[in-house]
Amino acid sequence: MAGIYVHIPFCKQKCTYCDFTSFPNRLGFAEAYMACVYKEAEMRGKELQKETFETVYIGGGTPSVIDPNYIYGLMKQLARTFHLSKDPEVTIEMNPGTVDAQKIAIYKRAGINRFSVGLQTANDALLADLGRIHTRADFEACARLLRGENFSADVMLGLKGQTKEDVRDTIALAADCGASHISMYALTPEDGTPIYTDYLNGELPDGDEVAELYEYGKTLLNERGFLRYEVSNFTKAGYGSRHNLNYWKRGQYIGLGVSASSFFYGKRFTNTFDLDEYIKCILSGHFPVVESEEVGEADAKFEFVMLALRTVFGISAKEYKKQFGSDWKEDFRTAYEKTRAYLDESGDVTRIKDEYLYVQNRILTEYMT
Ligand code: SF4
Repeated sequence: MAGIYVHIPFCKQKCTYCDFTSFPNRLGFAEAYMACVYKEAEMRGKELQKETFETVYIGGGTPSVIDPNYIYGLMKQLARTFHLSKDPEVTIEMNPGTVDAQKIAIYKRAGINRFSVGLQTANDALLADLGRIHTRADFEACARLLRGENFSADVMLGLKGQTKEDVRDTIALAADCGASHISMYALTPEDGTPIYTDYLNGELPDGDEVAELYEYGKTLLNERGFLRYEVSNFTKAGYGSRHNLNYWKRGQYIGLGVSASSFFYGKRFTNTFDLDEYIKCILSGHFPVVESEEVGEADAKFEFVMLALRTVFGISAKEYKKQFGSDWKEDFRTAYEKTRAYLDESGDVTRIKDEYLYVQNRILTEYMT
């Protein structure tokens, strides 16, 4: 299968931890930008006529900050320029501070059937500290508008002063408001972001404290029927993200928009991170690609193993053999032997033991050659 990712790089203001490609002061460019995305879809669509796309993911930035009619137009354009499957999963990311009933109605008319809502925390003081534009009440109002819809909520761990009670309260809020899926991520303090200073000052919880919050959150999620299927992702039965599963299965995807990445026909490539350059390139009929590389066989094998081990589905030896013609345990003999104590083996499948999945990065470094 294949997916389409569309990046909408506009936000109302920059969050203190954010190093995504997002431009808080350039909302006025949304119309010109979307016209370029429509054109890029047409250019890419011509190259990919033979492919069928089963998922669309509209991420950002804050896709819900722009006029919803641009999103409606985008979906029309994707349906015109790509071959979408009969029943595609179509997700949009939303900030609860930018949503109203009319927007949701337009999204639904556009064919969007999955909503990813950036809650992060239910604690208003922590939200303000993160520079988020929304409050707990905004999330509650957003969830009321999404009643009966398939929606996911993002929960963040490792915030300054965050307690177990905050985590409990946040998970309870998301679950009680009807989320079918919860993504629970640890904050990564990136150099160059305002929150990095808090990190350098030792004001953020350390790795062990975050791991404790994660284990606590995982237990609560399980109690509420959300089962982990990837290190940061928990779902009620039947609501796993098809788009993300495609990434973890090393499936193909095309990225549209500034900074969007793609993986197609064995090549990984990335668009420019510069908004003006993106617009200029598209207007002159060129793809705005700034990095491109063929993935060699050794890298492809490592990607397969690394991505599969992030999930509870693990590595299928049969699937590996089908793709590469070899035995993964032979290809990674030394790493496999070293990490065996952390692995569960059942028939054809090898996965990281449940209790070690959170620290999978440390295990996976053994597989890097
Ligand atoms: S809303 Fe998301 S993309 Fe926008 S600034 Fe905040 S974290 Fe970054």
